[in-house]
Amino acid sequence: MKTDVIMANLERKYPNEKEYLQAVREVLESVESTYNKHPEFEKAKIVERLVEPDRIFSFRVTWVDDKGEVQTNSGYRVQFNSAIGPYKGGLRFHKAVNPSMMKFLGFEQTFKNALTTLPMGGAKGGSDFDPTGKSDAEIMRFCQAFMLELWNNIGPDTDIPAGDVGVGGREIGYMYGMYKKLKREYNTGVLTGKGITWGGSLIRPEATGYGALYFLEHMLHKVGKDVKDHKIVVSGFGNVAWGAAKKAIALGAKVVAISGPDGVISIPEGMTEDMVDYMLDLRASNKNVVAPFADKFHGTKFIPGKKSWSVKCDIALTSAFQNELDGNDAKELLDNGCWCVCEISNMGCTPEAIHEFQEHKILFAPGKAVNAGGVATSGLEMTQNAQHLSWTAEEVDDRLHKIMKSIHEQCVKYGTQPDGYVDYVKGANIAGFMKVAHAMLEQGII
Ligand code: GLU
Repeated sequence: MKTDVIMANLERKYPNEKEYLQAVREVLESVESTYNKHPEFEKAKIVERLVEPDRIFSFRVTWVDDKGEVQTNSGYRVQFNSAIGPYKGGLRFHKAVNPSMMKFLGFEQTFKNALTTLPMGGAKGGSDFDPTGKSDAEIMRFCQAFMLELWNNIGPDTDIPAGDVGVGGREIGYMYGMYKKLKREYNTGVLTGKGITWGGSLIRPEATGYGALYFLEHMLHKVGKDVKDHKIVVSGFGNVAWGAAKKAIALGAKVVAISGPDGVISIPEGMTEDMVDYMLDLRASNKNVVAPFADKFHGTKFIPGKKSWSVKCDIALTSAFQNELDGNDAKELLDNGCWCVCEISNMGCTPEAIHEFQEHKILFAPGKAVNAGGVATSGLEMTQNAQHLSWTAEEVDDRLHKIMKSIHEQCVKYGTQPDGYVDYVKGANIAGFMKVAHAMLEQGII
């Protein structure tokens, strides 16, 4: 396999799919030399098959807003790969959603899910519906209209959607209600991230952020450091940033910045628990601005138009969107003394930023390893649904802990360089890719 040959072909076929091409290139460059030691992969054209989604559903979603006006959005479900389990991955509702974003996220999800040690294939879906400023009734009508199209293509052993940016417990509730009405079955295992009284799992809302902090702890312990007393910046103020901030504080770190599309909040004394709780109110207000945070808490400051990466820190955690940290941001972080960056958002850093971090040999780990705790806990939710019982928070948290430890070990195993530096990007890509590739090989040419 030659990365450049495969990429040239994909660039010709999908010239406008920037994020998808970026994600595929990163994985192929990491795995090329390991892959080429397996002539049986080459013969079965594993990589050529693996970079293409199994299928994509693309549909129209029409709904009526509060003024009585008819609105139409685009909806998608990309079923990327089912070599190691049924399709699994979140739904993203965001105005910038397009086929490229859906494909990149489905591709990443395939390897992330493989790293979790649980039997889940990769998928992603969503819509260009913009939840900002929408009423609760509008959100409900949109979710119902979306499920009216999707329901027949998903199922507990087929494809299991969940949340992502713009989709949380409320949206999953509205979609599950509609699914149940159409299917006429109480099939809890069809969606994850459900409410606790109807099949949800304890710790699922916190899981992405908690898992990321467990991964970070392992990274730091490996080099003789600890999370405690270090300054951390996170980006965004959504579910992922919330879970990460909550666990970071519990572990004794100082969270000194959160952000929104309007700017950054600098918190020199570090976040308190009531500040973390307030992030939920801010998100629920549906306005997608972070500025009100500084009005509420003395000693914090709103700086318009700036990102979290401009605030001095030891550790930076991307927790909002893809490519939110670019080469210039990376330079600013390094100049300010930052020595560890973890992506909690999917593909949070641009290739230029990753290059800067790796050149300077600072600790850097990619989203598909760091944020896998979210989907892993979705997998635990599916297991509880299949058993028709619920585990305690301690049991779920303990399993999440073990999964993150195992993901860290896989990264170290495949990513340790001759000089001892751990290339977590390479480690995560090789571990995830090889698992899926072997499963595809064993299942024949399909
Ligand atoms: N959207 C999350 C992710 O990117 C969670 C997916 C899931 O729970 O299925 O992994």
